[in-house]
Amino acid sequence: MTRTEKLLAELIALPSVNPAFLPPRHPNAGEKRVADFLAATAAQAGLEVEFQNVLVLADGHHRCNLIARLRPRNITKRTILLAPHLDTVGADETKFIPHRKNGRLYGRGACDTKGSVAAMLTALCELANSKSRPLETEILFAGLVDEENAQAGSRALVAQTSRLCGATEKSTHRRDACATILAIVGEPTKLQVVTAHKGSLWLQLATRGKAAHGATPQLGKNAVHEMARVVEILETDYAAQLRKRKHKLLGAATVNVGKISGGTQPNIVPDRCTIEIDRRTLPAETEAGVRREIAALLQAKKLAAKISSATLAPALPLETSSKLPLIRKFLRSTNQTRPAGVDYFCDAAVLSAGGIPSVVFGPGDIAQAHTADEWISLAALERGKNLLLNFLKSLS
Ligand SMILES: [Zn+2]
Repeated sequence: MTRTEKLLAELIALPSVNPAFLPPRHPNAGEKRVADFLAATAAQAGLEVEFQNVLVLADGHHRCNLIARLRPRNITKRTILLAPHLDTVGADETKFIPHRKNGRLYGRGACDTKGSVAAMLTALCELANSKSRPLETEILFAGLVDEENAQAGSRALVAQTSRLCGATEKSTHRRDACATILAIVGEPTKLQVVTAHKGSLWLQLATRGKAAHGATPQLGKNAVHEMARVVEILETDYAAQLRKRKHKLLGAATVNVGKISGGTQPNIVPDRCTIEIDRRTLPAETEAGVRREIAALLQAKKLAAKISSATLAPALPLETSSKLPLIRKFLRSTNQTRPAGVDYFCDAAVLSAGGIPSVVFGPGDIAQAHTADEWISLAALERGKNLLLNFLKSLS
């Protein structure tokens, strides 16, 4: 059994379900067990360890990002962040017992994203004990909390980047500092270097009518009927308009009407109807722009609906230039000629919006994430660790 596999099996056996998916004080909730275990592993390999307070749980426990640092041999000129998340979605108890079968390791978090956690931390621990430690590049492992819910971990990391990164300590210009940073966010990308993903924007649309007795509908105005026409336009004309808007790594933007509610009972003309839509956005699309184009389309069809946000914070799209020197080096080091794009949202967008150029990379396939029999290929896991280790060794 390799060190990476052993670590991954140990991590699966320590439940770290995002507390948002469990009742308060559930024993499987929170990232603390995993963070403490990783901190001990990192300290044993000689890394400097610190915890970064992010959130407080109902029982008073803190949810903390774990930061493990490998300083370069000389002064720090640049920083590489290895940033996987520590939380998982929920599962029944049997999924926290790792088991191996046909070259795969099964268990909750195997690919999303404890596989990346194991590959990244093992690579860093091996680097710490090798002769090829970088001279001027500092490596930070940042085990982040709360990716599966509200990304509080990556938001807190961004807020403290300048304190954390050696390269930015004396810099007064944020942009200068960031040119020397790269974050590799761990998610199952089948070991592809991903520079782009879509965002997700949830909007609510509401139509207003006029209530009346069901026996005299002509005296009212039916908000459900109005909304039925709005839904039709969104699913046909608007969807067609979006299919024409293509990104070279991500394909087209999409819209889905996912929820509808309106009316109270059959004999009352409904005065209000609402829908919630999920609009998957391409890089450069903004919430204001999306709202404007939907409003314009409805207006052209003589329909009226009030548009508002259905979430506190939209999931932003990601687009990082593959021309940045560290990213070109990472692509070369992993034998890839061009970067890839993925459909799903992750912490990379939060870090990127906070000024840290970010890519997504990790072993495993997102097709197995959040599934009942989540697994990872052990060969891919080891290859991921080796690709990361070789890249880190190649840094000056
Ligand atoms: Zn994930």
